[in-house]
This record gives sequence, C-alpha cells and structure tokens, in this order.
Amino acid sequence: MLCVSSFALSANDVLLEGTLTQGSLIRAQAPAGAEVWFNDTAVKVSSEGHFVFGIGRDAALKHRLTVKYAGKTQVFPLEFSAREYAIQRITGVEQKYVEPPKDVTARIARDNKRVREVRTVLSDKLAIFAEPKRPAPGRISGVYGSQRFFNGQPRNPHFGIDIAAPVGTAVVAPWEGKVLMAEDLYFSGLTMIIDHGFGVTSTFMHLNRFTVGVGERVTQGQHIADVGATGRVTGPHLDWRINWQQERLDPQLLLPEFTPVQRLRLAL
Ligand SMILES: [Zn+2]
Repeated sequence: MLCVSSFALSANDVLLEGTLTQGSLIRAQAPAGAEVWFNDTAVKVSSEGHFVFGIGRDAALKHRLTVKYAGKTQVFPLEFSAREYAIQRITGVEQKYVEPPKDVTARIARDNKRVREVRTVLSDKLAIFAEPKRPAPGRISGVYGSQRFFNGQPRNPHFGIDIAAPVGTAVVAPWEGKVLMAEDLYFSGLTMIIDHGFGVTSTFMHLNRFTVGVGERVTQGQHIADVGATGRVTGPHLDWRINWQQERLDPQLLLPEFTPVQRLRLAL
C-alpha cells in the first residue's frame, strides 16, 4: 500500500504519490467515502479511498483534481512539468517490421484492437499501490518517449522501457495481478498483459516463452515469462510498458532506483 507511515496523513488529506510530469502515473489516497474526478472524468476510488490517474507523453500540463468529501467539493489545480524526449535511431531492423507487407495489415489492426480491448479492464485489485519490483535485471537500453527512426524512417515514439538481457532471463511480475493476454503479436512478438488493478496494466513484449497463462493470478516477483527477441527487435530485451487504461505511461517514474518518490498532500 502507499507508504504513508513516514508521512503525517490526517484523516482529511489527499495524498498523491508520484512525479507530476508527462508520462506519469500518480497513485493516491483520499479519505474513505471521497469521490474524485480527474479533469472532468470520474475516477474509480476504492472503499478505503485509493485511486490513480496519469497523463501521457504529450499531454497538456494543467489539470485539475476534484474531490467531494463530507458534503464539500474542492478543486485542486495540478501543474505537471514538460519533458524532453530523446531521438533513437535503430538500424538493422528487418524490413518486414519497418514496412509490413500488405498481407499482415489486417493482422496488425486485429492485434491493436485486441490490446486496446484488454486494457479497458478496471478491476478492484490494490496491487498497484505497492512499490514495484523490477521485472528483469539488465541495462536500460531504451527509454520512454523517444522519437524513433527504424532504418532511417520515422515511426511512433517508444512507450516502454527496454531492459537488455539474454534470451531466457526470467521476467517477474512487478506487482501481483492477473494475466489478461499471452499472445504472439506482429510487432511486439510474444506479448503478455497483466492487470494490477484500477485500470493499470503491465505489458511485456518480445518474450521467448510464457510460464503462466491467461486467467492465472500471479504474485509480485513470480516468474511469468522469459526474455526473448520476438517481433520487431534487433536483439534480445524486455520491453515493459505501463498503461492506465489507454494512457501510456513511463515505468521508470515508478521505480525508486531511477526516480525519487515524491509525495504531495492536499488538505481537504
Ligand atoms: Zn522497446
């Protein structure tokens, strides 16, 4: 759960944990019974007041959190910081992954639709409020947000972190959860999606094999798959992504080894 012990949280506070910047997931706790809106959208709140929200790579910087509690409604303006993203040039990519042949167009569309559907899940699991475990050891070889060129051609930005590791390295669940998808997709190869609750999912790409299947519950740190080099890759690595529903977020902002934990208290 949110690490509130070091923090004097009064009964009428809202505690936000996370970095107010683009690509960030904010985990929060309000008093039990509070209702919360992020901008104009009602967010799911647990019976004890847990909720999450986040903004994407290129999102606007000014947002608002509205909290209704004990008959009182308060609006908190939240100012996020802008990020600068790197440019990543990748060469030696198989041409079928840079300009996919016509006969895979329908498959790619189907893959994308499946992934979008899976990420609409909004479960009651509280796993996401714990501190994550890094899913694999190794050098970070690709970061969130980079503008990418494959064989010199501009393509979508990168939305995960890449961890370089040999084929067969164990991938472990960063938080407990439930396996929603374990499939072979065109660009991302063997791909697993795990639900951690409140609309937050992890996606693991380019795997060599799965060690758990769809519908299985996994514990934090459980071996779920092996690192591989399937799909659009130039070498073995794990690509780990975090989504809050369709919003693509930066896993490195959630790992204390890369990003100091920031907390903000809003007094109700
Ligand atoms: Zn990647």
